[in-house]
Amino acid sequence: MNFVKNYQCTLCHKVFEARADLLTCPLCGEKGVLEINYDYDKMKKIVSPTYFQNNSDYTMWRYLPMMSVEDTKLLPTLKIGWTPLYNTPHLGDILGIKNLYVKDEGLNPTASLKDRASGVAVIKAMEIGQKVIACASTGNAASSLAGNAARMGLKSVIFVPKRAPLGKLAQLMVFGATVISVDGDYKDAFNLSKAAIDHYHWYNRNAAINPHLVEGKKTVALEIAEQMHFQVPDWVAVSVGDGCTIAGVYKGFFDFYQLGMIDKIPKILGIQSTGCAPFVEAFKQKRYLQEVAENTIADSISVGIPRNPQKAINAVSKSQGTWIAVSDEAILAAMKLLGKTEGIFGEPAGTASVAGVKQAIQDGIIKSTDTVVIIMTGNGLKDPANAVKAAGSPIIMKPNLQEFIQYMEKKDKEVSI
Ligand SMILES: *Cc1c(COP(=O)(O)O)cnc(C)c1O
Ligand SMILES: [Zn+2]
Repeated sequence: MNFVKNYQCTLCHKVFEARADLLTCPLCGEKGVLEINYDYDKMKKIVSPTYFQNNSDYTMWRYLPMMSVEDTKLLPTLKIGWTPLYNTPHLGDILGIKNLYVKDEGLNPTASLKDRASGVAVIKAMEIGQKVIACASTGNAASSLAGNAARMGLKSVIFVPKRAPLGKLAQLMVFGATVISVDGDYKDAFNLSKAAIDHYHWYNRNAAINPHLVEGKKTVALEIAEQMHFQVPDWVAVSVGDGCTIAGVYKGFFDFYQLGMIDKIPKILGIQSTGCAPFVEAFKQKRYLQEVAENTIADSISVGIPRNPQKAINAVSKSQGTWIAVSDEAILAAMKLLGKTEGIFGEPAGTASVAGVKQAIQDGIIKSTDTVVIIMTGNGLKDPANAVKAAGSPIIMKPNLQEFIQYMEKKDKEVSI
């Protein structure tokens, strides 16, 4: 039982009856990404402050009555969600804001926010009796799907671009997925996955195409609101590839707002790398999105043709937020800064949002008195090569105390300069 009212196309705005096998608009096809609408009056009767006070389930499933999943009894899933929201005063001091928080999504079971979507995807596949689930991914959606499918006893078939970092590939292999490393970029991996899914009729976890995944991702916003005792921040910063994550962030706050649980929707800051910034460029030039090259070290947001453009654009415009692009150098610098000031290790696509907040403060978009939440979307261990690029390698020396003392004296001098 859930409170889904209907599905609505984000392109033609037509409304359709909710059906588990309907993933995109029957009239617009693949580009007609569906929005899931709820009956908030009915939802309100269950979802209230007392509902949360009495709920001891500290996983994403504590928000089940706000989601589009049917059966609550088939949930022996991995422990997804309720990741920490850290107050980060050291980082805040350096960036020049008092109230800064980081939501560490790298602590999900497969170490990224994608678990929130994959947790829903495996259950939706099981609802309609599918045994094989497939996706194309820059890396995290893939490793997350593979882990969550393994947990539920499903098979997964994964298409990744050749450049996917080692940590993510290792996860895929360990989780027993059928992995195809496509000799091409993400766009090529996506197209092959689509053709294969059409051919074999597997369940489609491609995030833009499957509207239930945004309903999983929105739980990150629901948690932020609840962890802040329903006093939501002024800004939430999140990096953007296909646009599903930012859409989920908006949807979560939108839902709580509709239920009267929060009194405003935070402004959403969408962040991309200058090496691949189709949303930022379209926003600045006030035009539609155009395909761009995929040229950034932040592999998770290296998406030349975003598959969920309308929902992402709505998230920023309806929340009165904005878009910002940061360089790969700034992303790596932010990785090191976050790590050494707060002990949080993010992958490049995650630390892009730290760099984005820094830039937004410098540009006067974010004020020093604003409360800001940065979503750290993925764990740094997934991409050790870039981490070493950001932070360097250790000194190598003989096991000799004199040599060590000399090194320490030299190092102390360097620090005091
Ligand atoms: C997928 C991902 C994103 C971006 O999400 P989209 O839905 O593609 O916009 C950002 N960071 C990380 C770590 C991701 O895995
Ligand atoms: Zn349509």
